[in-house]
Amino acid sequence: HADLAMYHAKQSGRNSVYVFKNELETQLTRTVNIETELRYAIERNEFVLVFQPQYALEQNQFTGFEALIRWQHPEMGTVSPEVFIPVAERSDFIIDLTDWVLSQALTTLQTLSGEHPNLTLSVNISARELIRSDFVERIRQHLSKHPTINACQLELEITERIAMEQPQKALMIFQSLRRLGVSLALDDFGTGYSSLSYLKRYPLNTLKIDKTFVDEIGIDEEDEAVCKAIISLAKAIGYQTIAEGVENQQQAEFLRTHGCDFIQGYYYAKPLKSDALTALFANQTA
Ligand code: C2E
Ligand code: MG
Ligand code: MG
Ligand code: MG
Repeated sequence: HADLAMYHAKQSGRNSVYVFKNELETQLTRTVNIETELRYAIERNEFVLVFQPQYALEQNQFTGFEALIRWQHPEMGTVSPEVFIPVAERSDFIIDLTDWVLSQALTTLQTLSGEHPNLTLSVNISARELIRSDFVERIRQHLSKHPTINACQLELEITERIAMEQPQKALMIFQSLRRLGVSLALDDFGTGYSSLSYLKRYPLNTLKIDKTFVDEIGIDEEDEAVCKAIISLAKAIGYQTIAEGVENQQQAEFLRTHGCDFIQGYYYAKPLKSDALTALFANQTA
């Protein structure tokens, strides 16, 4: 299938991907509907979970990992979560998808926790499902299936936008989740519009400095200033910071110097399949 070309749903403005065989066969062009294909993706085993290690700068070791979903479609090839997550969010399919992610990721965490206690797992949660009335109960049920995992080993990553669009509702859900013992991180921090008064009122644990700021370390002084400001803001209100998308030593050193707590990115480790992740933690212990 070397000749396959495709245009993403983003370009067509619909949930469709056009798949072409090659120039001679353009009449065979067919439209693949992402929403329809997604429904079958779980039973056809097309989803894969990868894990990106997170590195603690003070301890100088990996202490956790973020679960990232991948979709290997037989015709479309690898479809980015940035394309299919928004489609899943428009239907209830996001619920099944997150249940699949949580169950796979918690199983991986449970396996690793035998040898390496206290590792943390971060899972991305869509705004749309967070505000559903059964969300907290679903998390509780997932945790109850893994009794050896401590709730505080699970961190839910939520984007800044939802927290600010429905602040009262978000606050109540955050409080329930914290009573359950899970940790909360604001993902892509700095790209949305945070109200500082809400930020300090929320029972969060971690601010996640967005990659777009990290990218400019060593290049743009204003973005460096934003990174420093986020770190000091977090310290002032008692939150930890993690920087994402760290790709080189200069960025890592800058973040270390200015007191960032954790970093993740290709410089330390790319997202890994579970066997490679197991090897990484085994190596570190040895
Ligand atoms: P995110 O949560 O902000 O994840 C970070 C993204 O940056 C990931 O892309 C990761 O592979 C990538 N990344 C990490 N370090 C580096 C680096 O050093 N350089 C570069 N160039 N990229 C880096 P990915 O896996 O494509 O995920 C994109 C977004 O899709 C995520 O952004 C998240 O919002 C969403 N997503 C991924 N998995 C899930 C999931 O299981 N559930 C939900 N609801 N959303 C997910
Ligand atoms: Mg994330
Ligand atoms: Mg992010
Ligand atoms: Mg992002």
